[in-house]
Amino acid sequence: MGCDGGTIPRRDELVRTKKKKEEKDKKADIVAKWKYCAISSNKLTKPIVSCELGRLYNKDAVIEYLLNKESPNSSLISHIRNLKDIVTLGLTLKQDYKEKDTAGDKETDLQDSKYVCPIVGLEMNGMYKFFYIRTCGCVLSERAIKEVKTDNCLVCNKSFVNDDLILLNGNDEEIEELRLRMIERRNKAKEERKKKRKLEGDEKEKNGRKDQKTEKDIQSTSGSTNGQSSSNSSNSNVKTSSLAVLQDKASKKYSVSKDPNASETYKSLFTSHESAKNRPKAHWVTFNPCYN
Ligand SMILES: [Zn+2]
Repeated sequence: MGCDGGTIPRRDELVRTKKKKEEKDKKADIVAKWKYCAISSNKLTKPIVSCELGRLYNKDAVIEYLLNKESPNSSLISHIRNLKDIVTLGLTLKQDYKEKDTAGDKETDLQDSKYVCPIVGLEMNGMYKFFYIRTCGCVLSERAIKEVKTDNCLVCNKSFVNDDLILLNGNDEEIEELRLRMIERRNKAKEERKKKRKLEGDEKEKNGRKDQKTEKDIQSTSGSTNGQSSSNSSNSNVKTSSLAVLQDKASKKYSVSKDPNASETYKSLFTSHESAKNRPKAHWVTFNPCYN
């Protein structure tokens, strides 16, 4: 590569400039995943949510996507079917964190993070692995989870199983693994739903049979005591009496306040009641005649 007489080496063949820049870009990419929403690319602000693949989003961006089902990054979030597929994260704010106005690209700025692990205090800046627990949403560093082996969340004490741990912002391989776990989990849930529906269907069928039986029982008992015809005639009596009441109420003379059968509470709902005079009147802008 040059310097052997005859050839003149170019600068980039002698000085390692390009590689360094690439490395820096990679780092910035990783850091960006922890600071910006995966759909809207806005700065992450609470409430922050995550999916089963461990990506970070602003909750409002996900809701907007679910409403429109349109997004330039829809391939990234097509696995989110509804709000049940996301979990609001319980993040721990760094104590002395101060929001910076300008987004500088200095090394120190990149490593500065807003959130930390509540157990061991590691910063959530992309340098360390972090998990969230699907059952409660608490976010913990891998170190905390490995050091304290427990089946209960170290923050809120809610129990969880290994499958509930979702790695945040993993690499491509790790995301693929999470995707397989997600598919398995969803298939399992589907089967469970099917089983439940079948059980419910069976129970309904049983209940239906029971109802039929009881109906038959009632008919047979009423038939033996009063006779079928008498029960029918009492039914028709009730119908005619309620019709008469309705006709009464439809006449112009009828007033709720004078109805002896109406309760005081019922009467107080109408403007004809005495208490209506003391009732506050609505403002003319918000006035609705239906409520006055
Ligand atoms: Zn928790």
